[in-house]
Amino acid sequence: MSDAIGILVLNAGSSSLKFSLIQWPQQQEIIKGLAERLGEAESTLRLQAPETLSLPLPSGATHEAALQALQPVLERYTGQFSLTAIAHRVVHGGEHFKTTARLSADMLQTLEKLSHLAPLHNPANLAGIRAATTAWSGLPQYAVFDTAFHQGMPASAYLYALPQQLYREHGIRRYGFHGPSHAYVSARLRELMPGNASRRVITAHLGNGCSMAAILAGRSVDTSMGMTPLEGLVMGTRSGDLDPGVLLFLLEQCQYSPAQLNQLLNKKSGLLGISELSNDVRSLLQAKAEGHAGARLALDIFTYRAAKAAAALAVPLGGLDALVFTGGIGENAGPIRQEIVAQLSFLGLQLDPERNASLQGQEGCISLSAPSVWVIPTQEERMMAREAYFCMKAEKP
Ligand code: ADP
Repeated sequence: MSDAIGILVLNAGSSSLKFSLIQWPQQQEIIKGLAERLGEAESTLRLQAPETLSLPLPSGATHEAALQALQPVLERYTGQFSLTAIAHRVVHGGEHFKTTARLSADMLQTLEKLSHLAPLHNPANLAGIRAATTAWSGLPQYAVFDTAFHQGMPASAYLYALPQQLYREHGIRRYGFHGPSHAYVSARLRELMPGNASRRVITAHLGNGCSMAAILAGRSVDTSMGMTPLEGLVMGTRSGDLDPGVLLFLLEQCQYSPAQLNQLLNKKSGLLGISELSNDVRSLLQAKAEGHAGARLALDIFTYRAAKAAAALAVPLGGLDALVFTGGIGENAGPIRQEIVAQLSFLGLQLDPERNASLQGQEGCISLSAPSVWVIPTQEERMMAREAYFCMKAEKP
């Protein structure tokens, strides 16, 4: 396997399919784009890099139709190397999948059985897998799980204080998500700062979905998300932590149905719910500057809760050597980083205001002293391609 190969990374949602072609071992992203509004009247396949291109898809296009349209586009870019493997993002691997795994008919059955743990995500991931298996039946395909990186958490971190029977019978426990992102930025930090300076690390993935992980010597020992990606931090449209009594109240006193609760907690809460304006941090920063009280309150709650979660994650680490920001907000929003770090000054964190203000989407250290604070743009697709590559290499030494 000395020659360059292409690994196609796919992330299938219910009405979208993101793709990225990574050349390996150069780790170079050759093309990236997405199919949107699948199943609707006007679905499109968009190439975002290295050129922008928009191709209409047939009305009501499925994941399969999107991949059929993608095939000739890919062929234009795979002249120097061949497409050799496909890496699929799968949100929930339960306790069954602790690492990346090669897809097979048996494995698909196991995955189907896990769908109840992530009904919003896994069925869509499976639709993407089935479509790719039809489009590229001869290629090895791998499932890279959002949950796998956190599978080494101790029981004290992953169990809820519920009757243990619920864990044993239904798998109700904390799993954690955003694994490839936390794994990538923590590994990258260890390259930038080897040794003890990167031993006790908190990684903060702040995007539309937000999560933090406590990483001790490269291993996740706790994380803010739980059985589903709803637990933990305030997010774009998700509530994060909530007194479970609120749910009982809404069910009993306000007659919410499960579907309404689902909508409320996943789509109408978080920054959007508090600000009554937007889930987008850029818009909220702008509105706050113009005096919008809701935007100010939403951002205050967001940063307060993020700082509180980071302080809590210092407990399993027994201290802190470095904090890493990533994700759309973490990589770009200097004012948000500043607010979070200011509330963590009792842990010794101190930002360099100029470095913080100037770093937007680039990698770098933004602190004045130890513990260090970093911005490291996430590379989830590259991390997934890497996982597939090493899995494949282990099969063919
Ligand atoms: P996803 O989780 O969907 O991948 P992203 O990681 O792209 O989302 O993060 C989206 C969030 O990042 C949005 O709230 C967006 O406003 C915020 N963001 C992106 N660029 C900037 C910027 N320059 N300044 C502030 N926030 C930004």
